[in-house]
Amino acid sequence: MSVKNFPLGKNDLEELSKKFPTPFYLYDENAIRQNIRRILKAFSVFPAYKEHFAVKALPNPFILKILKEEGLGADCSSYTELLLAEMAGITGEEIMFTANETPAKEYEAAKKLGAIINLDDFSHIEFLEKTAGLPELVSCRYNPGPLKEGNAIIGKPEEAKYGFTREQIINGFALLKKKGVTRFGLHTMVASNELSLEYHLETGRMLFELAVEIIKKTGVKLEFINLGGGVGIPYKPAEEALDWEALCAGLKNLYDKILVPADLGSVSVHTEYGRPVTGPYGWLVAKALHTKSIYREYIGLDASMADLMRPALYGAYHHITVPGKETAPATETYDVVGSLCENNDKFAVQRKLPKIVPGDFVVIHDAGAHGRAMGFNYNGKLRCGELLLRADGSIIQIRRAETPEDYFATLDLEDL
Ligand SMILES: *Cc1c(COP(=O)(O)O)cnc(C)c1O
Repeated sequence: MSVKNFPLGKNDLEELSKKFPTPFYLYDENAIRQNIRRILKAFSVFPAYKEHFAVKALPNPFILKILKEEGLGADCSSYTELLLAEMAGITGEEIMFTANETPAKEYEAAKKLGAIINLDDFSHIEFLEKTAGLPELVSCRYNPGPLKEGNAIIGKPEEAKYGFTREQIINGFALLKKKGVTRFGLHTMVASNELSLEYHLETGRMLFELAVEIIKKTGVKLEFINLGGGVGIPYKPAEEALDWEALCAGLKNLYDKILVPADLGSVSVHTEYGRPVTGPYGWLVAKALHTKSIYREYIGLDASMADLMRPALYGAYHHITVPGKETAPATETYDVVGSLCENNDKFAVQRKLPKIVPGDFVVIHDAGAHGRAMGFNYNGKLRCGELLLRADGSIIQIRRAETPEDYFATLDLEDL
């Protein structure tokens, strides 16, 4: 079981929405900080552990600054994400640059920042050498293909466009060494939103064994092994969060058994988690505008899939609560929908909820990662803003809602 909390009550929301009308995202600084401390404590069994937060999950520099204060780095995969990391004061090897189909310009920007460049393909060794030039530290992304099972969101590794094959990665490290690279990292990212402890332990085992093969075949001694992201969160109340202590105990056991005897006992472990760092501590707060009774019962919100796309894109479950009606019995069955002219603009389908009336606040949980970030402007929809509940209890706006002027900003209207 996971508990679905929301830090504000109905009266707080009434007050808040006078200043910041719904819909908006709300993030809880204190909860994010406490969560990071738990993760860092669990991983402290490894030498020089580093978590590079996946910027794409919550690309707001106010949040990134909080994460930096807690000791996290950033995982970036585009030029703009590099700028966001820089804005938050995250620099140098605190940044992991994991891109694919990467333009030369982005490699150049990453190299200029001193970021760790993580190559997605064998051919990029030469590409990087000829463009930005090879830095002293290079990481390579491994795709195990048929050697590893996938999961629902990211698909099978065999069908995934990312990374080097096993043979390529061995040859790749040998080639990098020949070309004068002196420091090396290994990376993979094989799952998304995966809650199985076994799955993540298997990923660790796979990389640790590969590290041993790499040193045996090429003499390359890795400096770090990056386990990637992909740790899930319990979106459904019946699901259980991954136990960080158990994960780290299991990984440490594999580390001691596989890496230590191969003289790799100083390899540091890195991760690039996004979802489990901020996901449960962000909410999309909307208001019910309409009720509609046709073949089904509908609750129409002032938010739409332009604000939160996961339910439409993946059929993802996001828990919904109604402030002031937390303990009311779930007597109704609703489709909770947004206003897009797309019938998959539904935050919940046939969901049991208490009776909702226009004007009720509707809180959509676990939206703190891959939420606002995936928003879009289809149908002329303007994305909502973001608020931060500070550790001292105050609430500040960290991104305003979009306006029509933002939507039109890229049009060259002089030529109309
Ligand atoms: C998306 C992504 C992550 C973060 O994934 P989460 O599921 O949010 O933890 C990390 N690394 C890479 C390369 C990614 O593409």
